[in-house]
Amino acid sequence: MSHDTAWTFCQICRAECGMIADLKDGRVVTVEGDPEDQWSRGKLCVKGRNSPRIMYAKDRLRYPLLRKRRTGEFQRASWEEAIDFIATRIEATKERYGPQALVFYEGTTARVLDEMVLRRLARLIGTPNVTRTWSVCVGPKIVAYGNTFGRPLMPWCDLKNTRYIILWGANPPVTHFHRHLGITADIMAAWKKGAKLVVVDPRLTPMAAKANSYLQIRPGTDLALALGMIHHIILNDLHDEDFVAAHTIGFDELAEHITPYTPQWAERITDIPADSIEQVAEGFALSRPASLERRQGVQHSARATQTLRAMAILMAITGNVDVKGGLMLTPYRPLRSLPVPDELPRLSRSFWHDHFPLAKDASALLPEAILNETPYPLHGLIVIEGNPLSCFPNTRKVRRALAKLDLVVVHDLFMNDTAQLADVVLPACTFLEKGEISVQSLRQDHPVRTRLPVVEPLGEALPEWKFLCLLGRKLGYGEYFPFAGDQELIDAVLERAGWTGHEAAVATTPGRVLETGFTTASGKIELYSRPLQELGHDPLPTAPMDWPDDIAYPQYLITGARVPHFYHSQHRNIPTLRKAHPLPLAELSQVRASEIGVADGEEVTIKTRVGTAVFKAKVTEAIHPGTVSIPHGWAGEHNANWLIDDLCCDPVAGAPRYRDMGCVVEKL
Ligand code: SF4
Repeated sequence: MSHDTAWTFCQICRAECGMIADLKDGRVVTVEGDPEDQWSRGKLCVKGRNSPRIMYAKDRLRYPLLRKRRTGEFQRASWEEAIDFIATRIEATKERYGPQALVFYEGTTARVLDEMVLRRLARLIGTPNVTRTWSVCVGPKIVAYGNTFGRPLMPWCDLKNTRYIILWGANPPVTHFHRHLGITADIMAAWKKGAKLVVVDPRLTPMAAKANSYLQIRPGTDLALALGMIHHIILNDLHDEDFVAAHTIGFDELAEHITPYTPQWAERITDIPADSIEQVAEGFALSRPASLERRQGVQHSARATQTLRAMAILMAITGNVDVKGGLMLTPYRPLRSLPVPDELPRLSRSFWHDHFPLAKDASALLPEAILNETPYPLHGLIVIEGNPLSCFPNTRKVRRALAKLDLVVVHDLFMNDTAQLADVVLPACTFLEKGEISVQSLRQDHPVRTRLPVVEPLGEALPEWKFLCLLGRKLGYGEYFPFAGDQELIDAVLERAGWTGHEAAVATTPGRVLETGFTTASGKIELYSRPLQELGHDPLPTAPMDWPDDIAYPQYLITGARVPHFYHSQHRNIPTLRKAHPLPLAELSQVRASEIGVADGEEVTIKTRVGTAVFKAKVTEAIHPGTVSIPHGWAGEHNANWLIDDLCCDPVAGAPRYRDMGCVVEKL
């Protein structure tokens, strides 16, 4: 019996925690955290600890499946048959409708190697339609911060050294647990040294329960709160005049613009008392250095980009940018795409470009584009490690759109609900079965590491990049897909980037950007954004004075509160993980529960403009009184996206409104 250990890093979520796998006879028996890993510090979350169970799960896909034309059932196929089938359909689609009719979608698990090969293949085929989770995960932040401070910079808060922390729409102990382990530890360290902690959230999270102040905000109204704070700071001369004069442009326009957004106005919209808004604004402005740490809670709303612009402005006018204990700006470590021939025809515009020209992708728009054939017909979809049926807003429309396509291919570990509707289902690898380059883009200092497979793939499973290479060769682009193994591809990507694979963390020196200048057109922090104005967006964060209430749907729905046991739509099929959350529950306040006569455990219907769903109620005091919160990622009738409108996105970056839909909650 052979016994061995192997170093790797977990890739279930983007925290990429260091891991040591214990192997017996070529099988992973257990895994444990790598104590040398500076961020995960020897710890793994419950998903990471269960990664061998995920890899060896009985329902893992082990060979390709093709849907039989006559019966509609899946039939086992060889990789050769599957690739032949896909390549034939791609050729036919290209011939009849043009290459842009083909869409690739990558879910959150795909990383550098898959991305590099996929981008090369899409470019050779000639489609601009490669969509990822950009608009959902980071889009509004990138557009907002990029248009304020310039790019490419990675903004992060130096929480350890700060004196005042606003944790806004963020739940670091649960979300991306190990990435945020550092964040949580830094917050606690600062707190112990006397820093004040303020939490803004509709839900009373564990951090909110510990905080010095907790602002229980009405969902989707974060922009009003930020504007109320800016108003109070400027009108009371609490801003940092020297910093503003030296490093920003547009302050006079901002000061004039902010006049009507009083804390009293913000109180009516946010449900937060005006004196609490004033107190937090004063604390934030006067306790320098101060930091505002925001996450997905503010990113999935109708005004996400402008909300994040207002937050960036709060940091800037209080002089908390590029200073120890404030917002740090780390230069981005660029990765270069694998080369393609110069003479390829120009790409047409992506299907989202006319709506969201600033967006790197806007996958929520895909079902609408398929159904309405705008800006042109789309006919094929290849999904890599993703689950659009579960994750895209408006499930009813996603179903109709998938049914309209001539080709749907899903490459995944399990038969997820999108795969069940596919023409071809291909078996993918877990992170333990494939190599990778980790750029640690979620870590503020992004060191680079590489990893090789720990074990051979199960059954006939292949990593995504290998599937894409097979497809590329079949389509006649063999010379661009010569990679025989993980190491060869890793070497090619590293060489292209000019990296060795062991790049140390990028150092961030406070004051560097203030000295050299910001990478905006003006070289300063742009409180007033002309680039946004030129594209028809508000150059200063703007909110309607009469905040629109949805009279027909007067309660607020938030979806996507995280639990540590599942990553988005994954892992409900793993019994040890499912045990902790056998069913999705709708959290609603005691106030609303009493109004509609619902007790804990009884069923409620939740209705929005696009759909209805039934959930068991969890009655709690720990949520904004008019709000109901349901988890995301569940399949079938409990899919939260039956309720989310796909067309009501953030107008700048295209992020869906996962966290501020109007709804009605009633007893079933
Ligand atoms: S937080 Fe958990 S799932 Fe994410 S990388 Fe770390 S161990 Fe893996």
